[in-house]
Amino acid sequence: MTYGGQACSSTVSQYHSALSIPDNPKYTLVCAGCGSVYFDDRLKCQEDSALLRTRYAKRQIELKDVLGMGKFHDWLPVNELITSDSGPITYKCTELAAELGLNNLYISFNGYWPERGAFIKTCSFKELEAFPTIQKLKSSGCSLVLASAGNTARAFAHVAAQTGVKVYIVVPESGISRMWLPEEPTDAIHLIQMGKNCDYTDSIHLAERLASLPGMRAEGGARNVARRDGMGTVMLDAALYMGRTPDHYFQAIGSGTGGIASWEASLRLLEDGRFGSVLPKLHLAQNLPFAPMYHAWKAGRREIIQDIDMPDPKKLIHEMYADILSNREPPYSIGGGVYDALRSTDGIMYGITNSEAKSAQHLFERYEGIDIFPPAGVAVASLMEAVNNQKVDAEEHILLNITGGGVKRLEMDYSPHKIEPAAYAENAHVPLDEIIHKKVLA
Ligand SMILES: *Cc1c(COP(=O)(O)O)cnc(C)c1O
Ligand SMILES: [Zn+2]
Repeated sequence: MTYGGQACSSTVSQYHSALSIPDNPKYTLVCAGCGSVYFDDRLKCQEDSALLRTRYAKRQIELKDVLGMGKFHDWLPVNELITSDSGPITYKCTELAAELGLNNLYISFNGYWPERGAFIKTCSFKELEAFPTIQKLKSSGCSLVLASAGNTARAFAHVAAQTGVKVYIVVPESGISRMWLPEEPTDAIHLIQMGKNCDYTDSIHLAERLASLPGMRAEGGARNVARRDGMGTVMLDAALYMGRTPDHYFQAIGSGTGGIASWEASLRLLEDGRFGSVLPKLHLAQNLPFAPMYHAWKAGRREIIQDIDMPDPKKLIHEMYADILSNREPPYSIGGGVYDALRSTDGIMYGITNSEAKSAQHLFERYEGIDIFPPAGVAVASLMEAVNNQKVDAEEHILLNITGGGVKRLEMDYSPHKIEPAAYAENAHVPLDEIIHKKVLA
């Protein structure tokens, strides 16, 4: 994959060599593959394709006295403090825990649930990625480009509306109904709707073309440390709440970026020294029948083999209940990616059926009293499977990441506003001029 943005003011530093003067003393980037160190912001190592990881100057985290995820400022790759009330919250679960026979089950709730102090108004942990990514871009004067069919698009649109940073969001037609915001959309948001016969992959291709224009920047996906460290605040919040790292971490994955992020955050917590010496075991779940990482991991492979692990992907994706967990090119094999995270933590992967996900979702909602998204149901189902197969003990500390929820709760307090498309693209090859300047309405 390539990422553009050549013409934004601050991207100049992207081309400095590793020996240039540090322009950001708060952190450096270290390659998870070869160990190369970079002092400039970049998405790729010069030597290999492994992920770059932030190394923060502060080995021990000190919380900032703000609401939301900004309190983890020391370990976020941004210079300006994030002051939104949006962030992960952790609580000790009693109702569902009793049902499952667990005595130390902790829930990270990422959504809207004011009674618990949870104020993520686009209702998923994608907002934890959006705030630091957009904060980082703010000073550069660039616009951000992304392709998304759902939670990511809403999260970035929301943060764009809050900060005034421009975003171009390419959405397949099937995703348009998920495009709402808790607030009135602003003209910082440019929604581009694709034609009827286009899928998510077409959206990605169009977004890549847009991102190569001057003044535009691709958000970078899993390679973007702002996204990963933003998601890593789930683990940080839990460890601070519990006073230690958990023994186990459960999450539903599509790309696995959240799993990588949790692993990286727990490595930082180990180095901090005050949160014990447990590296949490990753329990990552996919929704059958589309579960390429589950199949590859079960076969003991670092590589995903398309014909074996995801034959006829379109058909399989169509059959999923939690269809947003359907990334066809997840950062699984690359150095520092999902495979390495699972290896390092002696992790487990789960393949969850639609009916398991649905009944787990309803069980959670009944016991905990809040609505959750289908992927969160997949995560709950994986926890139930782990309990049944004695992969966790009753006394162990377990962190269950509820990656999205509270939409129904939100609707009691806000009336969601639809985001109208600013432009329409019949396919991924349309002239870019039309999309950016003409505003061809659907
Ligand atoms: C994106 C998303 C996931 C999957 O997260 P990854 O770690 O990026 O695979 C799970 N649940 C919800 C609600 C999401 O929006
Ligand atoms: Zn490298």
